[in-house]
Amino acid sequence: MTDIHKLQLNKDDMKQLGYQVIDTIVAHFETEHLKKPVATATRQEMDSLFSTNVPENPTPFQDVLEFIIKEVLPNSNIVSHPKSFSFVPGPSNYVSVMADTLATGFNVFSGGWVASPAAAELEIVTIDWLLKLFKFPTKKGGGIFTSGGSMANLTALVTARRQCCGDDFSKAIIYLSDQTHSSNIKAIRVLGFKKEQVRIIPTDLEYKIAINKLKNAIAKDRLEGLQPFCIIASAGTTNTGTVDPLNEISKICKSEKLWFHVDGAYGGAAILAEKGKQLLKGIEKADSLTIDPHKWLFQPYEMGCLLVKNHKWLSKTFSEKPEYLRDIEGNTSEINFYDHGIQLTRRFRALKFYMSLKTFGLNAFKQAVSYSIDLAEEVENFLRQSSNWEVLSPATLAVINFRYHPIGVSLTEKSLDNLNQHISKQVMRSREALLVTTVIQNQVVLRMCLINPRTTMTDVKDTLLLCESIAKEKCESFV
Ligand SMILES: *Cc1c(COP(=O)(O)O)cnc(C)c1O
Repeated sequence: MTDIHKLQLNKDDMKQLGYQVIDTIVAHFETEHLKKPVATATRQEMDSLFSTNVPENPTPFQDVLEFIIKEVLPNSNIVSHPKSFSFVPGPSNYVSVMADTLATGFNVFSGGWVASPAAAELEIVTIDWLLKLFKFPTKKGGGIFTSGGSMANLTALVTARRQCCGDDFSKAIIYLSDQTHSSNIKAIRVLGFKKEQVRIIPTDLEYKIAINKLKNAIAKDRLEGLQPFCIIASAGTTNTGTVDPLNEISKICKSEKLWFHVDGAYGGAAILAEKGKQLLKGIEKADSLTIDPHKWLFQPYEMGCLLVKNHKWLSKTFSEKPEYLRDIEGNTSEINFYDHGIQLTRRFRALKFYMSLKTFGLNAFKQAVSYSIDLAEEVENFLRQSSNWEVLSPATLAVINFRYHPIGVSLTEKSLDNLNQHISKQVMRSREALLVTTVIQNQVVLRMCLINPRTTMTDVKDTLLLCESIAKEKCESFV
């Protein structure tokens, strides 16, 4: 290490460190399916490994890296593991990992045109690809890459409020369903709406927003002199993959003059599959649409995206003109993305999306998404044909909910809940698969989200066998 006070390494050290890092990542890609996807460390265990004072003096980087490889990396869930079924898995891809490395290596500032014309252009181009995919207008439409779906939803709702209410939103009312993702509620809270300004509409037996109840709520709010301004629809709820009736909601938005936001952070990517396209009909009518490339578009964290029907809505909401930015404003076709969202300094997210699409081709992405939708349907058939399993929500956009409920064994709802909770707990304890429960219709169920194109039917069957052996052991102890 030469110029340590300048935080510099010499060329050979840089290469050695770099090659070691790449070797480590490649080895992980090659062997992750052989590892266990679940990490279980407690705070105490982690403290005993890592809690130290700030290191005042240098440590050889090989030692630092070895320590990280040994102690840090294994203590995280492997979200791209084929048996990582819970939450929304993160089946990333190597090309995007390298793209992120390049973007970080060059530390590209992706805020304004003048700082990096190419970064802005790649964001314009890839957003354009997405606008086309979702049949949004490409000339008028626009969008921005964000850290994730939560930030995309927040950006959308700020924009909606600005467009619909201006500065006075004291009477504004927003509508969503009891299955809407929690990030929307968070965003509403960040925006400073009061609880009384939020209508959480119940869902029907298929977990879709109850249209009649939605209409009643809007009508009632109008009678009371309030100002309905926005409906949030889900295009793929995280729990069950359910898509709200987008066409019907869009009609309501049109006749009531409300902003139509679609949260497609989970399911939006399904537009790439024929079956998904059918389910997502009406998504093109949204005023704003959240999608989340770090989920089902296979990008490493962090990458979310907001698309809007009219890019001017974003600039009208987010442009501020401080003096120190006046020299870099450029002309209007040269977009400064700091004018389209919350962040000024932004990393170069578009690069990974661009490079992975260019390398693999959109068809590979289409096949990957279709494969997952089909796999979930195959899992549903398999479960329905077994006397041990009950399907609680059918395979929808690669999500399925089910529980252990053997024919001929009479168990109360409470003991079924306990049994399935126990199965999940034991599976997690074994660390063989990441499989946690969720609750739908007051029942504790197991949920599989199957968006990893490397997950096979064998991975699923092995996991179900493990669940069955845990369940049988438990049931024997009942008798
Ligand atoms: C995951 C998810 C979000 C939040 O996205 P993050 O990328 O985790 O911030 C929002 N809405 C839905 C439907 C999601 O599935």
